[in-house]
Order: sequence, then C-alpha cells, then structure tokens
Amino acid sequence: MTELAPAPGERATDTDTHANAVAPIHHWIGGATVAGTSGRTSPVYNPSTGRQSGAVDLASVEEVDRAVQAAKHAFVSWRTVSLARRAETFFRIRELVHQNKEAIAKLLVAEHGKVLSDAMGEVTRGLEVIEFACGIPTLLKGEFSEQASTGVDVYSIRQPLGVVAGITPFNFPAMVPMWMWAPAIACGNTFVLKPSEKDPSASMFTAELLKEAGVPDGVFNVVQGDKVAVDALLEHPDVAALSFVGSTPIARYIYETGTKQGKRVQALGGAKNHMIVLPDADIAMAADAAVSAAYGSAGERCMAVSVVVAVGDAADPLVSAIQERLPKITVGDGMDPASEMGPLVTQAHRDKVAGYLESGAAQGAKLLADGRESAPEGDGFFLGVSLLDDVTTEMDCYRDEIFGPVLGVMRVGTYDEALKLINDNPYGNGTAIFTRDGGVARQFQFDVNVGMVGINVPVPVPVAYYSFGGWKASLFGDSHVYGPEGIHFYTRGKVVTSRWPDPATSKVDLGFPQTR
Ligand code: NAD
Repeated sequence: MTELAPAPGERATDTDTHANAVAPIHHWIGGATVAGTSGRTSPVYNPSTGRQSGAVDLASVEEVDRAVQAAKHAFVSWRTVSLARRAETFFRIRELVHQNKEAIAKLLVAEHGKVLSDAMGEVTRGLEVIEFACGIPTLLKGEFSEQASTGVDVYSIRQPLGVVAGITPFNFPAMVPMWMWAPAIACGNTFVLKPSEKDPSASMFTAELLKEAGVPDGVFNVVQGDKVAVDALLEHPDVAALSFVGSTPIARYIYETGTKQGKRVQALGGAKNHMIVLPDADIAMAADAAVSAAYGSAGERCMAVSVVVAVGDAADPLVSAIQERLPKITVGDGMDPASEMGPLVTQAHRDKVAGYLESGAAQGAKLLADGRESAPEGDGFFLGVSLLDDVTTEMDCYRDEIFGPVLGVMRVGTYDEALKLINDNPYGNGTAIFTRDGGVARQFQFDVNVGMVGINVPVPVPVAYYSFGGWKASLFGDSHVYGPEGIHFYTRGKVVTSRWPDPATSKVDLGFPQTR
C-alpha cells in the first residue's frame, strides 16, 4: 500500500482524491497539524468498499500533554476575549461550517458509511448547536440584586473552567464534537478533542475551519488516539472537565475515573430505545416512524428505535405494515444518491450485529427479515434490514444494545405492561409513544423513566436550545449536553457581594453579617 502524506496546504477533505492511498491522519495541536511520534496507528476504512483509506496516529501520553499545554497556554488570553468578539467568531464559524457542509458530510460518508443525505442532516443538527453558541453574550448573563442589604449589591457571574476535553463516539463524528466544543469554547474554555479512531478526519477538517474563522491557536486541539490518550486526559492535572459520549461501560469508567481525579464529568452512554404503539394509533404512520428510526444510519444512532412495543390489537397490523416497507429500502454505498441505508462502521461490528439475528432466532424470536440475505454483495461492511418478532426480555437481542439495522417487536397486552418494560430496562436514553389519546400520552410523559420522550415523534433529539441526555445507564453525571445545561457544565458560578461605603462610616464589627 502507498503511504501518501497530504501536500502542504492540502485539506483533510482532499485525501479522498488519492484513489488507493492510505492517508496518514495526524493530530492538531496549537493551530497546526502535528504528525504522531508514538509509532502506533489504527486503520481507518471506507465501510462501503471495505478498503483501508487511512491510518490514524494514536497519541502517547506526551503528545496528549503537548495538546493540553497548548490549550492551557491559549486559555490565558482566550478567557479575556470579549463576549462581542467571541460571538463574532462564532458567527464566522457558523458561516464556514455552513459553506463546507457537503465537504464535511462527504468525510462522514467516507469513514462512517452513512448515506450523504443523513450525513448532511448530521452536520445541520451540529450547526444548530453552533448557532446556539452565537448567542453567548445572552447565555452568560448573570443575575443582579440591587440593595440586597443597605448599600449592598449582590450579583452572580459564570466563568470558564480552563482546559476541557471531549471524547466522542464513531457514530456522529461531526455533530457530537460540536455538541461539546461549541458551547465550551464560546464560554471561554479551551478544548482538547479525542475523536473516535474509526472516523477521525471530520475533526481535523473542523480544526482547519476554526482556524480560518479566527479561533486563536491552541483554543481547539485534536489528539487522535485510543485508551492511552483517554487515560492521559483523565489523569492530566490541567484538564478541568471531561465530556464523553459513547458506550455505557466506557461512560461509567470515564465518570468514575474522572470524578476520582476531581474533574467535572458528563458521560453519556448507550441506549435501548422503546417505541410504544397503542391500538388507537395510526398504524401506517407508526410503521413509517418505526422503520425510519430503526434503520436510519443503519441503526447506529443512540436515538434509534431498537424495540417496538405493540400493545394489544396493534401488533398484527403493525408488523405487517413494517414488513411491507422493508423490501423497498435501498441499501448501498453512501455516495450513491439511491442509497437510503449504508454499511456498518467495521467488519467486526457488522459481524457482531449479525450475531444477534442468530442468537435471537435460537432463543425463540421469529426472524421475519434477515439482513444477512439482503445485504449488497462485495467487500463493504453491509448488513440488510432485519426484523425480529416475539422478542422477550431474556433474549440477548433485547438485553444488549445492538447498534445496527435490527428492529425487535415485543407484544404486550396493556399500556401498563409496556411502561413497565421501559422502566425496568437499565437504559433510559430515548423513547416514544404513538397514540391518538392525548391523556395517555401525557400520562406516559409523566410516568416514564427516560430522559427524552417523543409523542408521535420517533427520534426525539432535542433542539439546540434544550439539552440532550438520558437517564439511568445512559448518562453518568448531572448535566445533559448542549443547550442551557451545556453552558452550565462548561462554566462555574461566582457570587459577588459588593458595597461602596463612605470610609467615614467604617468600623470593626465581629458580629455575623446581617442583611436586615
Ligand atoms: P465507545 O464507547 O466504544 O467509544 C467511545 C470513545 O471512547 C471513543 O473515542 C473511543 O476511542 C473511546 N474508548 C473506547 N474504549 C475505551 C477504553 N477502554 N478506555 C477509554 N476510552 C475508550 O463507543 P462507540 O462504539 O464509538 O460509539 C457507539 C456507542 O456510543 C453506543 O453505545 C451508542 O449508544 C453510544 N452513543 C451514545 C450517545 C448518547 O447521546 N447517549 C450518542 C451517540 C452514541
């Protein structure tokens, strides 16, 4: 294989022009690309062809330290930059990301495998968080109480934490980092991003865009890497806070290790999202929603519907309606405009997901559609859409997060049974209910132990001015990401009590200060 370094000035997006080359993917430290020195790399694949397209550097502890030092140095001046200038910079970032939406999306297609329209959707949702961050002068407004005591005013301000780090998953290589770096930097912090080693190029391109937008060197850094880099960030004394999005076992590890080191941590984990369909629901609409939310992005979304819980008479017509829709889904290369669903991210992940079809059938589920049979031919990591009926709580396909294009159907007699299923499940990321009964929907919203709820909406990812986060094993920590909770997470409060007395009235008073 040819090793081909990008020419000077060449952008991360240009690497795909070298048809059969394996492009090196480096770090971004202090405003420039920095080649790794650890001697360790990890392969990056084009999931549609199965071909290795890149080799990403895996950082050593020293390289992580270099990025943190660059961020620490940049923090000294970045925190003094006025809110007006920070907002202006974010408006420029917004424009550049908007103009380069397709270029970013193509990088996602090339390394993640999702189809171009879905990748464009990902960048658009990330862009909304950047647009939210443009409002930073308003978002950082404090409170002021005049005359809290005679001649005494009290006010609150929020200040940045310092160097903060983000560790992100493979499934949203552009949007999830935007959930973190946009509010963090807008609040005056400096940032070290450790993207997924499976699809690292979007982060490098983002770094170039931020530099072009005028973000000072060192404010945004990227260290590529694996557990070595993550552990180095977790243990680094100059990292004040960590945001993590990924699977539950790693989220738990990040939360426990990071908080033990005295850091502020928000760690979002995996999911098992249930969609209840009540007998009074519009079955065609519910089937459209279930199919869209189960198979979009090949099920590699933390908000994918993984289980449809059909209540009573809804089950048979719903399963038929879902079955009818499956043969019409076109699976193929993400760059083919006809494709609606792409491959899975790696061969290993594809095989793991396919294993749930085998175990599901062996454990008593009915395999109504088998994606192993309908997958496109070739070396890509494809699996077609799959449907398992009569799923029960003991089966592996129910107990585990599958994270692939597999929808399970569970049949229950009543709303209460459906609700109990969800509330007994260890995950609590997203859920949805399909019904025409507003009273039941409202009761569901009240009863369900899940962080994000859809009512006749299958993927309830909150808009950028609310916050995103699950309950139970889907989130460790107190703060959800982006929105108001994101601003809160990346700042700490200070309360100032002030008076400007006449020195002539000054005297010693050892009593406890009174307000009345
Ligand atoms: P992952 O947990 O394997 O990896 C996430 C990050 O952690 C990556 O940057 C990876 O390099 C790092 N990492 C992996 N193993 C590690 C280890 N042993 N020690 C330290 N760091 C480690 O997750 P993934 O496979 O990249 O992403 C899919 C998962 O992310 C799914 O479980 C999905 O539900 C979850 N996810 C959750 C949300 C959410 O908002 N709750 C959003 C997107 C994805």
